[in-house]
Amino acid sequence: MGWKIDCISMGSFGLDGGAMFGIIPKPLWQRTNPDDDKNRITLQSNCMLLRQGERCVIVEVGNSFDFSDKDRSIYAIGGVTPQPTWQQALKPFDLTPEQITDVICTHLHFDHAGGLSFLNSDGKRQLSFPNATHYIQKRQLEWAKAPSEKDAGSFRSEGIYPFIEDHAKCVFLEGDGELFEGVRVTTVDGHTPAQQLVHVQQQEQNWVFVADLIPTTSHLHLPYIMAYDVEPLKTLKEKQDFLKQAVDEAWTLWFYHDPKTIAAKVTFDGRRFQLGEVVLPG
Ligand SMILES: [Zn+2]
Repeated sequence: MGWKIDCISMGSFGLDGGAMFGIIPKPLWQRTNPDDDKNRITLQSNCMLLRQGERCVIVEVGNSFDFSDKDRSIYAIGGVTPQPTWQQALKPFDLTPEQITDVICTHLHFDHAGGLSFLNSDGKRQLSFPNATHYIQKRQLEWAKAPSEKDAGSFRSEGIYPFIEDHAKCVFLEGDGELFEGVRVTTVDGHTPAQQLVHVQQQEQNWVFVADLIPTTSHLHLPYIMAYDVEPLKTLKEKQDFLKQAVDEAWTLWFYHDPKTIAAKVTFDGRRFQLGEVVLPG
């Protein structure tokens, strides 16, 4: 028996194309990621659903549900594909949020962890997954509470901390390790301290949720590094080492933000890492 892997789309949003591609000139990134009239490219929230027996695990939870109209407009939340509630998103899988047993957040940036809670119709904050154990890296949480002035804008505490710490079952991880049989996490630090990548062994296939180490397939090219990263040279080294192993061991990579390709293999032509065979989850 292995894990059943599915994608749950929590809707599109938009971020500045220049910030998403760092030093890459617009005429290059624009070919693969066209921008809108505000220079934003379309990104997705491709969350992962893992099921085995009674266990239902969600990796990443999408943007906050409680943005102001101004913020929804700035980040084009739901602009191309709507942002569902978790209740709506789980329905096609015959699941309710109460049935989710575990939630893994790779890091606490607002577009990855914002959906951990929501304001109900009485204006009270409520956990999105009231019965789940939440797996968060301790060093990432500490950083999120006291980020640098450079990356403070990527963290929006409302609904994440201290709310999750106070109200949810949490496991604060300290580095790499196995969470369940066939599911383990490894950490990288270039994008933000202790971002955790999620490795899932499914029969003969190894899937890796690469989060913001490689947010879209365009970021497979080594110099395509986001301006948001706190240590871009560390990202470069981490990406290079990771992709080498991914090619050698034929891993299937899961791209959380890619608007077209959720999962694919990677190839190396001696010069560049390239998108390989597309793999469909489900
Ligand atoms: Zn991030």
